[in-house]
Amino acid sequence: MMMREATPEERRRFYQEEWDRREVPDFILHTISMREFGFDLDGRGPNNRYNQFLTVDQLGDFLRSRAPYSAYASVALYGRPSAREGWLGAELALDIDAKDLPIKPCGCPPGSVCERCLDEARQVAKQFAAVLAGDLGLRKINFVYSGRGFHVRVNDESVMPLEGNERAQIVDYVTGGVLPSDFTMALGYSKVFRERLERTFSSLKLEDLLQVKGVKKSLAQRLILEKDRALAMIRRGRLDELSSFEGLGPKTLRNLLEFLTKLNSSFTDGKVTIDTKRILRLPSSLHSGVSMKCMVVRDIDRFRLEEAVPKFLREASG
Ligand SMILES: [Zn+2]
Repeated sequence: MMMREATPEERRRFYQEEWDRREVPDFILHTISMREFGFDLDGRGPNNRYNQFLTVDQLGDFLRSRAPYSAYASVALYGRPSAREGWLGAELALDIDAKDLPIKPCGCPPGSVCERCLDEARQVAKQFAAVLAGDLGLRKINFVYSGRGFHVRVNDESVMPLEGNERAQIVDYVTGGVLPSDFTMALGYSKVFRERLERTFSSLKLEDLLQVKGVKKSLAQRLILEKDRALAMIRRGRLDELSSFEGLGPKTLRNLLEFLTKLNSSFTDGKVTIDTKRILRLPSSLHSGVSMKCMVVRDIDRFRLEEAVPKFLREASG
């Protein structure tokens, strides 16, 4: 997969020939005049802030004339977005960045992405969305391909007024980021935790396990070799049975669980979710760092990266 920086000329071509206002999602379109827009005009960072557009046409004019390196809109709605004042509420957003996954299923160096780690980010985004909808009963959940991963964006009325600490609790719940008091319950957080643990554990490599205090090489090797047996115990909530692995005493098991719980929570950047004034990459815009379109994904299972490749790149590669 080719990912390279777009040139200023390619940015101009993208916004003049390809950018389509119909790709601005409804949840932004319907609240456009209440959002703060931010831009990175030249690739040096999103320091052009406090922009307000009353209509999508105004936004389009700006994009076509400035061809920004990156474009962002706030998750928050404001009475006075151009002053970032009069906060009215904010979407709940989860950012799953394939380049920052705590455990990579591939051999990508840190900071880069490939099809495999993008797919892992996709599976995690789906898992988060299933909990938001199923356990927390939230609706209006959208997936956005961000260029290097996925955003899960929730526009349910019930999340809009939440404060940072309440959002932090949602992050803990959805990611399986805290140890439950009971591992065995059939429903609720206990189940979410087991499912997250299962996914995290299944991606573990030997070198990950060796980071856990008290885990000797022979134990780590056995856990990798007999991963399916360990995963079955996790699935059934019988974490106590993991002690049947030689060398995995109660103290080491506790260290292992704490290690995995911390990994669980690192699949998303919690800072993004708790920041109620955050700006997020604008769906329909170009991620110039990788020359990919940021876009709403209607069917996340069927989404293919080719859909996000802009015309100038397709033509350049034939
Ligand atoms: Zn990768």
